[in-house]
Amino acid sequence: HRGWVEVVCGSMFSGKTEELIRRLTRARIARQRVEIFKPALDTRYHTQDVVSHNANSIRSTPVALPDEILLLAASSDVVGIDEAQFFDASLVDVCKQLADQGTRVIVAGLDMDFLGRPFGPIPALLATAEFVTKVHAVCVCCGELAAYSFRIAASEKQVLLGETDSYEARCRPCFLSGMQER
Ligand code: ADP
Ligand code: MG
Repeated sequence: HRGWVEVVCGSMFSGKTEELIRRLTRARIARQRVEIFKPALDTRYHTQDVVSHNANSIRSTPVALPDEILLLAASSDVVGIDEAQFFDASLVDVCKQLADQGTRVIVAGLDMDFLGRPFGPIPALLATAEFVTKVHAVCVCCGELAAYSFRIAASEKQVLLGETDSYEARCRPCFLSGMQER
């Protein structure tokens, strides 16, 4: 079959990893050769597995650089990449090369950082992908759909690994009011 790129984006807790695992599981059921990668720096739960917040998981290969994916995925039909926002801009070309050579590429990642800024290579992937899905979390303040990842912790670094103790999903008004209180 021919290759293409799919992106699953959204805030933290929006179900990106869940959706990635769902698509990859279905590809495996269809007897396709599936490989999953994530940035080596994302070691929150398990160094090998891609794990969702509701504890679904799938075995993955941590890589430091997107180029490693090209080598390791040479014989895959489907390539999944989680936490893609942590890779550098070269990920965009790696996904393009994979798709050009006939691979189905499914990328999951945060579209915005904790300040609401477009995050890493995700904007360029959204522009160049055939299929884009934006999933939403539930605002922990009011229960509306949440598109923002609000940082509870004090750090100002763009990359701060953490979970329920460092971030919460918020809708636009609740994100705004939280930012004004900082
Ligand atoms: P992501 O990869 O986007 O961070 P996951 O797929 O890991 O998301 O987790 C999604 C799961 O997180 C949901 O199915 C739900 O069980 C749980 N969850 C925890 N907090 C929230 C929230 N505020 N909104 C939605 N789901 C949440
Ligand atoms: Mg995730």
